[in-house]
Amino acid sequence: MGKKVLIIGTGLGALATALRLATRGYQVEMVEKDERAGGRLNLLKKDGFTFDMGPSFFSMSYEFTELFKDCGIENPLELEELNPVYSVYFPHREKPFFIYKDLDKLAKEFEGLEIDFEKKIRGYIGTAKKLFHDTEDIVIRRNFESKLDYLMQLTRVPLKHAPMMFRSMWKELDGIFVSEEAKVIFSLVAFFLGSTPFQTPAVYSLLNYTELEHDGYWNVKGGMYKIVESIVGLLNERGVKIHYNTEIRSIELENGKISGFIDTTGKKWSADLYVSNSDAAAFRGQVLERPRFSEKRLDAMEWTLSPFTIYLGVKGKTDQLIHHNYFLGSNFKHYADTIFKTSVAPEKPYYYVNVSSKSNPACAPEGHENIFILCPMPDLRFKPDWSDSEKLADTILDDLSNRTGFDFKGNTVTRTIMTPIEWQDKFNLYRGSGLGLAHGLNQVGGFRPSNKDEKFDNLYYVGASTTPGTGLPMVVISSRLATERIIKEHGLVHADLV
Ligand SMILES: Cc1cc2nc3c(=O)[nH]c(=O)nc-3n(C[C@H](O)[C@H](O)[C@H](O)COP(=O)(O)OP(=O)(O)OC[C@H]3O[C@@H](n4cnc5c(N)ncnc54)[C@H](O)[C@@H]3O)c2cc1C
Repeated sequence: MGKKVLIIGTGLGALATALRLATRGYQVEMVEKDERAGGRLNLLKKDGFTFDMGPSFFSMSYEFTELFKDCGIENPLELEELNPVYSVYFPHREKPFFIYKDLDKLAKEFEGLEIDFEKKIRGYIGTAKKLFHDTEDIVIRRNFESKLDYLMQLTRVPLKHAPMMFRSMWKELDGIFVSEEAKVIFSLVAFFLGSTPFQTPAVYSLLNYTELEHDGYWNVKGGMYKIVESIVGLLNERGVKIHYNTEIRSIELENGKISGFIDTTGKKWSADLYVSNSDAAAFRGQVLERPRFSEKRLDAMEWTLSPFTIYLGVKGKTDQLIHHNYFLGSNFKHYADTIFKTSVAPEKPYYYVNVSSKSNPACAPEGHENIFILCPMPDLRFKPDWSDSEKLADTILDDLSNRTGFDFKGNTVTRTIMTPIEWQDKFNLYRGSGLGLAHGLNQVGGFRPSNKDEKFDNLYYVGASTTPGTGLPMVVISSRLATERIIKEHGLVHADLV
């Protein structure tokens, strides 16, 4: 019989780790504070509509193929590539920009606005491509034993990329493109990392390569929650038990070793090995009570923006919108400079709109559409009061109606809002930060909380705030890295499966 592993949480990183370990003969048991598996990759069902609660697309789809292959199964997910990848609306232009992977077609969007656009974007993406392939295996796909080990690995990255660590993404784009629109559009990826293009190092232009050339963006047929349903189905077949509505609050030690974790009812959960999918920094502070992760130290770290999300079921068809749309204002630099630390909701918010019923008609009743709106907001350190949430939702919906000509408020059938407070409380997201720890150079690689505990040799971490970072493909990689460590340190049970 294989060793027993207790996994705390059932986010994607946890589910993928459970599948990899159960496949290898470990006995896996999971505890989850929420009533359903998936963490941020979740689902909201209301009044005949189904919404993806958080993620609505992903890049690097081959990481999912690898996960299932690693567990001896063909990828059960039906993936659909988004084309155009997304659209971007500016207030001064009636027509949005459609962002295509086909660069000839993309160049037509910038005709009359940017001379030699195609040559410039090919050059920019070409540099990002080299950077991605020169760093992927060194920085993203490996475990580090120490900060020194990480720094030593970095010396293997070709020196020609070094200047991109020291100039900002905006500076890089500013040196290539003349039009403000091109600079703004290709710098939006910086917000995914929890920063702004003015602070994010230019190395992250590799994300433009992943979205525009490498693998594009993908959606799952039937909705994003199919990912969770598929993995949970496979875990059931492999005998993995999941206990819902069970939150771990503290640790119990015996002779300096973990004897178990205690939930909110006082029940003790014991195993040979433990994997925490709760935020890797906050868990060390709040559950393990490590001084290095005290509230003060956690608050001094850099966190990604918080989600303010609206789930709207509407009557009618919103032909103006595609699967994936950004609505921007006209004050980009000022917005980027203030959005992280303001205590008031912006009068002209920037937001993202997703209409998954366009590709998954079953998510809305016939003749209706399910609208998901995500507005990035400061986390709860800076804006703790959300009594203005209904007003902010109205501001966004009025703006969206003006810009698309569809009356969203007038056609509303159902409306649900989640503020950073709900996101924090539902999934234990520190200060409501949506993507976890940010990805400045001081919080990545060997400087990110490790997936191996500093003190206990049978406690590991998986998920967005440990290595390599946030986003669905990254946490799938995180599950591989955690599994690799566990097998290296605790042995294989079924050697024939790997
Ligand atoms: C609004 C939003 C939109 C996003 N959009 C995208 C997107 O389009 N594409 C993309 O790639 N990524 C997106 N992301 C990021 C992506 O969702 C995350 O990076 C990823 O899902 C994190 O997975 P995880 O493994 O860290 O687990 P999490 O999702 O953090 O899940 C952790 C689980 O652990 C549980 N838990 C926590 N503490 C305890 C405890 N003490 N005891 C028991 N259980 C506990 C939580 O309830 C939760 O279920 C988005 C995130 C948000 C919030």
